[in-house]
Order: sequence, then C-alpha cells, then structure tokens
Amino acid sequence: MGSVDANHVGFIGLGAMGLPMAGHLATKLPAETHVYVFDVVQTLLDQICKQHPEKVTACSSAREVAERSQIIFTMLPEGRHSKAVYLDGPDSICASDVSNKLLVDCSTIDAATSLEVKDHIKEKYPSASFYDAPVSGGVVGAQKGTIAFFFGCREDDENLPRLMRLLEMMGKQIIPCGGPSLGLAAKLSNNYLSGIIAIAASEAYDMGMRSGLDPRTLYKVFSAGTAQNTISDRFCPVPGVYPEAPSSRGYTNGFKVQLMKKDFGLAMELAKQAGSRNVLGAAGLETYQKASEDERCRDLDNRVVFRYLGGNEDWQKDS
Ligand code: NAD
Repeated sequence: MGSVDANHVGFIGLGAMGLPMAGHLATKLPAETHVYVFDVVQTLLDQICKQHPEKVTACSSAREVAERSQIIFTMLPEGRHSKAVYLDGPDSICASDVSNKLLVDCSTIDAATSLEVKDHIKEKYPSASFYDAPVSGGVVGAQKGTIAFFFGCREDDENLPRLMRLLEMMGKQIIPCGGPSLGLAAKLSNNYLSGIIAIAASEAYDMGMRSGLDPRTLYKVFSAGTAQNTISDRFCPVPGVYPEAPSSRGYTNGFKVQLMKKDFGLAMELAKQAGSRNVLGAAGLETYQKASEDERCRDLDNRVVFRYLGGNEDWQKDS
C-alpha cells in the first residue's frame, strides 16, 4: 500500500448503506490505517466499534472525524443532511481545516446542494477536493461490496487513483462521470429510467395476464423480444415468476418505494433544470408518491407498483 493509504479514513452516516460500507473499509484497510466514524444515532456507533474494536473509533461530531482523517466519506439521507454535516455550525466538517483533504459525498441528493457544498469548500479551502459519488446496488450490494459508484469527476482526475483503492474495497464498479455533480445526474437519470421501466413492466404484465396469458410466458416473451430489460428479467414485478426477485419474497430486500419516490422527485428537478422533456415523469412521480402512501406498499421494494396498479399476485392459485 502507498503512503496515502496509511492516512486515516473518516465515515459519516452509518445507516442501511453506510454501516456495511464503513465495515468493508474497517475489514480491508491495512492495520496502520484507522477509520473514524460519526452518526447522530449512538447505537450505530456502538455497533461498528464493537465489530471492529481495533480499527474503528467513534467521534463526537463530523468535525472531529474531519480533524482526524485525510479522506472522508459521507452517506446521508438528503441534501439538507449533507449541507448540515459539511457546512452548518461548529460541529460541521468545514469547521475544521480540511486543506489538502479529500471529501466524498456518496448520498443521493440534489445537484444544487452538492454544488453549493463544493463551491463553499473550494472557496474556504482551495487545496481540498469535494466529490459527489452516489451509489447503486442497494443494501444487499453494500453488504456484499458490489455497489457501483457514479463519480462526479473526470477520468483523468489526479485524486482518482488514490480514491480508487478505497472505493474498490466497498464496491465493484467506479464510473467517472465527467465533472462535479455529474455523478448525481448519472444516478438520477439511471433511477428515473429504472423507475419508469418498473411501472411499464408492471402495466405490461397486468395487461397480458388479464388477457389470459401466463406470466411465465410473458417473462419469456419479454426476455426474447424487443422489450427485454433487467427489471423484468431479474426484478420481475409479478411474484413467483423469478424466484430471486424481491416480489417473490413479499417485495422485501429491495429498493424501497419511498426511496424511489425521493429519487424520482430529484430526477424531475434535474429534468427541469436541464430543460429535458420528460413526458412520462409526471405520471411516474404521481405513481410512486401514491404507492409510498399506500399502506399495502409502503416500505416494500418499488416493484410493488404491480400491487399498487391492481395486478394479480395470486395467479398461481387461480391457474
Ligand atoms: P439511512 O437513513 O438508513 O442512513 C442515513 C444515516 O445518516 C442514518 O444512520 C442517520 O442517523 C445518519 N444521519 C442523518 N443526519 C446526520 C447528521 N447530521 N450527522 C451524522 N449522521 C446523520 O439511509 P440509507 O438507506 O443508508 O441511504 C443513504 C443514502 O444512500 C441516501 O441518499 C439514499 O438515497 C442512498 N441510497 C440508498 C440505497 C438503499 O437501498 N438504501 C441505495 C442506493 C443509494
């Protein structure tokens, strides 16, 4: 390992994604590299420190993490949390001198907030570097270390090789997206497409099934035809068609419908700012908003839109 890897690493936000990501760093970093962590939930701090007593130290604020680490990752719910952790008040990251440090926000947030944080840091600490690096692959991917990072930087960014070694400990693919906030634009474009396909696939299965088709036949048709897509192939919205899909496990262990609603809303903001004509966007957002509020769907994998739209989940019994 090079000298940079001997520098200490910080991780702030130990939720469903952050806890396993920080856990990979603690397990895979060399013995001399320490991981400093912070979350507002004390039990999460206790949990990771208990799992890695030699390697992980809990801090009392984001500021303390920044003071003790050279490279800092954040994994927070929304833009307001990222802004608070980086910029707001005496306990924030920027309350400490982050000159020459690398700051990587893996949260899925709006591009405007991310650029605001970046600009503030650039102005106050010109030698520091801040990146947006949202991830895809879900909680299971974070646990297995197979997530993809969409990195808001150019392929020839001078810090990328140094960061790559850490990112590879947490994920499988690192895709430089071209520049600041473009990691977020990539992530939101991806989730917009994934969300629209889930609705379209649910509608198409429902329509075909109501017309008398067996969903297993439709599955084969969609896979062989021009409609072929990953949502139908591996995340089939109809329960019992593809055994590994969340739908076949009661729509559990997937990407929660509320998170899809959040990302879909951010994608619509992006579309507005970028000036793209997303004609399916309004219907998509309304569908995820209403499905998130529907008690039959809330907290379940977003492919539960099949249920929300009235699809027949008991087709095996009925046939
Ligand atoms: P989560 O709510 O489980 O975790 C967020 C953590 O941040 C919590 O532990 C919370 O206590 C902590 N936090 C909030 N404010 C804080 C503050 N001021 N200081 C320190 N800690 C603070 O969320 P998650 O599922 O881990 O998601 C994190 C981000 O990753 C989100 O932006 C989400 O959209 C994105 N994401 C999630 C998934 C998924 O499947 N869960 C997949 C891809 C991307």
